[in-house]
Amino acid sequence: MASSFGHTTTTVDLERVNTLLEEWGEPAYRRRQVSDAAFRGLAATWDDVTVLPRALRARLADAEPLAELTATEVQHARDGTIKAGFRTRDGFPVEAVAMRHRNRRTVCVSSQSGCALACTFCATGAMGLGRNLHAGEISEQVIVLARMLREQGERVSNVVMMGMGEPFMNYDAVLAACRTLNDPNGFGLGARQIAISTAGWVPGIERLAAEPLQVKLALSLHAPNDELRSQLMPVTRRFPIDRLMAACRSYRAATRRRVFVEYLLLDGVNDSDRLAAELGELLAGGGFHVNLIAYNPTGSDYRASTPERVSAFAAVLQRHGVAASYRRSHGQDIDAACGQLAVRGVRELRRRRRAGAAPAQTASR
Ligand code: SAH
Repeated sequence: MASSFGHTTTTVDLERVNTLLEEWGEPAYRRRQVSDAAFRGLAATWDDVTVLPRALRARLADAEPLAELTATEVQHARDGTIKAGFRTRDGFPVEAVAMRHRNRRTVCVSSQSGCALACTFCATGAMGLGRNLHAGEISEQVIVLARMLREQGERVSNVVMMGMGEPFMNYDAVLAACRTLNDPNGFGLGARQIAISTAGWVPGIERLAAEPLQVKLALSLHAPNDELRSQLMPVTRRFPIDRLMAACRSYRAATRRRVFVEYLLLDGVNDSDRLAAELGELLAGGGFHVNLIAYNPTGSDYRASTPERVSAFAAVLQRHGVAASYRRSHGQDIDAACGQLAVRGVRELRRRRRAGAAPAQTASR
């Protein structure tokens, strides 16, 4: 048995379930029955999987529960965004969001509870790291939201690892979840419909370059030089921009795929024409696509750039031959937008700190 799979921790982890079925001498067709039930039928418990013999259902329920996360709340925004809050068995908060964009339904999932990287504009960053999520806890977020979307006659078309956490600090679990989501006998989503977003954890970019799985890579850059970037993203001190760009260029050389650069526009901080030109120069030579992102208020001192600034910034990039698009935000009215997932948790934490109480478990480092 693969030792990386903890006995009580992973969940709808296809690789582990298949290992168990083999160990128990089950016929080969069980694999298909199990994956169909879990990923097409979106079954919530083994007991619902009535095509399996009762004894096998019980055995699977003991060894590998089909559902590990407990849903704590579901919110629906005016624009169709659905946000789901969960708790892990050991009490860590996890959040996932389903967004509607034209005919796409994108599910944004968390790879960690909290985050260690402490980006100054991000609500999750203020929580600190709770813990890494297991592969099953990551894919299960997609399954639960797929079940909710099914009730509305809709399907998940894209998955992005852009919820809480830094996916590359939990590389193995994130990739295992991606493989399960991509597996034609699993959830069956095209690899190119899956994107991993990183704050710039260079070893993860290097490893992804060598993966056979063709998932998309997004890099949260947010500033074109180390001085400004380290103020926004302390991880810059560990992995400065030249190393980041070198890793992106090797990734591109190895995969022939472009890198999506995310750039959050903060009023008066990183949105000047001069910085746009610097970004244009940094990304010159092709292979990048810039997504300009509107800042969502999270109780910090930052403000979103004005629409005029956004257009001017995009125009400078264009003059440098860098393709850019503007990503409008979803689900703001329910704190489901980027960086807002943890907003309420953080407000609660600040309140407790002010009151001198012990921080919540998820806030400790
Ligand atoms: N750690 C990974 C993935 C999670 S964050 C990463 O950094 O890419 C997903 C995206 O949301 C990142 O681009 C992040 O910078 C952005 N983000 C964080 N807080 C935000 C906010 N308040 N408004 C808009 N985007 C935010």
